[in-house]
Parts: sequence; structure tokens; C-alpha cells
Amino acid sequence: MSDLDPRPAETLCEPAPGPGPAVELYPAREVPLGGVRGVFVERVLPQRDLPTVGAWCFLDHFGSPTVTKTGAPPDIDPHPHIGLQTVTWPFEGRIRHRDSVGSNVEIEPGQLNLMTSGRGIAHSEYAVPGAPAGHGLQLWIALPGDQAWIDPHFEQHRELPVLEAAGLRAIVLIGSLAGVASPAIAYTPLVGADVRVEPGADVTLPLNPRFEHAVLVIEGELTAAETELAPGPLLYLGTDRDELRLASAGGAHFALIGGEPFGEELVMWWNFVGRGHEEIVAARNDWENRELHRFADIAGHPPEQRIPAPPLPGLHLKPRKRRIGSARD
Ligand code: MN
Repeated sequence: MSDLDPRPAETLCEPAPGPGPAVELYPAREVPLGGVRGVFVERVLPQRDLPTVGAWCFLDHFGSPTVTKTGAPPDIDPHPHIGLQTVTWPFEGRIRHRDSVGSNVEIEPGQLNLMTSGRGIAHSEYAVPGAPAGHGLQLWIALPGDQAWIDPHFEQHRELPVLEAAGLRAIVLIGSLAGVASPAIAYTPLVGADVRVEPGADVTLPLNPRFEHAVLVIEGELTAAETELAPGPLLYLGTDRDELRLASAGGAHFALIGGEPFGEELVMWWNFVGRGHEEIVAARNDWENRELHRFADIAGHPPEQRIPAPPLPGLHLKPRKRRIGSARD
């Protein structure tokens, strides 16, 4: 997935210390993905006051039943990324992924696509003709500064470990949860899990207290940390929790993300995660000038088939500071 906002703002994400336990609801924003069907996605990260949860810096819910105008996301032509990993996790539908390191694969529900951009990668994503309408999550994980320039690579995981407890089943996409670890390569301590609780469940999920965590309900109604949740907003839970109580009368499906608070300053613009404005400007220039070969071509696409970079904002580095202090006490 690409950020298709024609005039994306540049966001400075400042580091913040672990805030301690929190219970904060962050509403989803409906973001148009463009295309003739005018499809919207629900974006819950980044938020003005919550740019990251661990190293997770972007979370879109596409095909959500709660958006005003839903449907399959449009096919996404070749576009670049730097400084991040993209996580594609479909609940319905099938997606064809091609990238500039030679990958050409289909993904279907239950499988994970994890693309590590390092210093630069380009990819495309198209719905597979005849497949059900797409529904799923697209997330980005910021790479730490000492790994931001590694070689790009792509992983597809068709078998993922599962944590099972009475009334609960969690697929661990990346990182680890209650001792269950995913084989997907992560560069900071974190967790991403797809969790289902059965009707009538009242369970306690062990958490890593060094991590901050957040919950996004996909389907059903869930009580988490004494907070009633339905699809839409992101529940931010802060750090210093060694367990999370979960209850659901009718059953629920949700995503759990978390990680050690990301202690580095980031600048996010369009499809780039950088360490400063100059890095973003350079990446944009390198994408716009194909002859520089920073972003290799993708087999199966003619070179002119690509999403052009939007114009850079006139003013750079509009800080979005993480709220710390009384609001998080
Ligand atoms: Mn993308």
C-alpha cells in the first residue's frame, strides 16, 4: 500500500520516554485512497499526539465495514519506500506483490508479507482478479537508525506461530507474545499479533511490561483494560503492563501492536521514513530520477508505470510532538 495523499504533510516524530500505563482512545481518520471508486481507509497511526507505538509508525485498516465508503483498495502502481518495513496482513481477498528485489508473489489471508526497504525498495500491489474484496491491515515499522540503510529484502511467511489459551487464539505475526516468537525478521523489540477471543471469553493475556501496546478491534465488541471497544479507534495502553484483561460477550477479532518505545526522532513523508528533512528530499529526488538507480526497476512493469512523488511541502519539519506528562499519568 502507498500513502496516496496528493499533498502529504511532513511529520516529525520526536522520541519520548515510556509513559507508564495509559488508557487513551485515538479515533481513526478516513483517508481517501484515490481511484475511480473513491475508496477510503481508516488510519489510526500516526496520530498527532501518538506518532509511534514501539517502532510501529503507520496503521491503515482497509476494507473496514465501518468506513463511509469501503471496498477493495485500488491497485497500487510501483512506488518507493525507505527506512521502514511494510507489513501486509489480509483478512479477505488476495494481493499480488511485486518488488525491485525480484519478488512476485500472491498473498492470502493467514499469510504475512514483510518487506524491508532498508535504503530503498520499490513495489506494486494489485488485487488478484476474481478474489473477494480486500479487507486487512497495512502497517509500517520504522527501522532503527543503525539499520536504516541495510539492503532491501522481502519475506513471505505462510506458517506463523499461534498462542492458544482458554477462549483466545493469537497469531504472532512478528516479534513475540507470551513466549511465542514469529520467524519474521524484526529490528527492534516489538510484537504484532492477530487475536480472536471466543464469545463469553474473559481472559488475561501476558504482556511484556517494557513494551507500550495498542489494540485495534477489527470485528465484534471487546472490553480491554476495562474499556469498551468496537471497530474504529485505536486504544493506546502505554507501558508497564504485564498483562491485559480481555472480555467479550459475543466474541471479537483484534490486532495487538506493541514494542519498546522508539527512542529516535523520525521524519515521515509520503512513503518515506527518514532521520531528517534532507534524507526525505534525497529519497524523493532519487525516485524522480530513475537514472540514479537507487530504486531498482520491478520486473513485469514498464519503467513509466510508477506513482510520481507528490510535491514537497514548502515548509519543512512541522513537528508533531508526542504528548507526555499529565495527559498520560
Ligand atoms: Mn507500499
